[in-house]
Amino acid sequence: MPRYAMIIEPQKCIGCFACRVACQNQNELPVTNQFIRFEDKEEGTYPKVKYTVYPLQCQHCESAPCVAVCPTTASHKHATGVTLVDKDKCMGCRRCIGACPYNSRTYIKQESVVQGCNLCLVHVQKGEQPACVSTCLTKCRTFGDLDNPQGEFAKLLPKAKHIRTDFGTNPTLLYII
Ligand code: SF4
Ligand code: SF4
Ligand code: SF4
Repeated sequence: MPRYAMIIEPQKCIGCFACRVACQNQNELPVTNQFIRFEDKEEGTYPKVKYTVYPLQCQHCESAPCVAVCPTTASHKHATGVTLVDKDKCMGCRRCIGACPYNSRTYIKQESVVQGCNLCLVHVQKGEQPACVSTCLTKCRTFGDLDNPQGEFAKLLPKAKHIRTDFGTNPTLLYII
C-alpha cells in the first residue's frame, strides 16, 4: 500500500493562486470555499528583502486531531495515510475545524459539511497527479509515495521536513525551507 505525500518548495511559489483555483474546480467547491490557503513572510530590510509565500492545506497528519474529535467517524485516515471526510457521515458540527492546528478545513454551508484537501486520492489512484501539482507553473509541488520514492520526489525527500514539528501531529505534507 503506498503512503502518499506531497513536498512543497515555498521559495518557488509566486502566489499566483492557480493551485487553489484548480483545486476548487477539481472538488467542485463554491467560490467561497478553499482547501488551499497562503501565508506570507517578509524578511530583511530594504533593499535586501526576501518575500516568501507558503501554500498551506491539510497536512495529512499521522496523528490527526480532526479524526480524534470527530463524533461520527466522518473524519478518518485512509490506508494510504490520506485524511478524508466522509460527506455522508459528516453532521457539520465543525469540531474538526476547531481541532485542526493548521486551519486546514472549510465548512461548506450549502451542504452543511466540512471538507479539506483529500490529496486528490480518487485521481492519484488512477495514476494522475493532484490538480494542484499538475497546475503549478513553477513546479513548487511534488507528489509521491513515501514508501516507494521515485524520480523528483525521491531527490527532494532528504531535504523535506514538517513545517511545524511543535504541533506533534507528524504530517505527511513536507516542505523544503
Ligand atoms: Fe486533520 Fe488538520 Fe491534520 Fe489535516 S492538517 S489531518 S485537517 S488536523
Ligand atoms: Fe466530524 Fe463532520 Fe463534525 Fe468534522 S464537522 S467533526 S467531519 S462530523
Ligand atoms: Fe486540492 Fe487535490 Fe491539491 Fe489537495 S491535492 S489541495 S484536494 S488539488
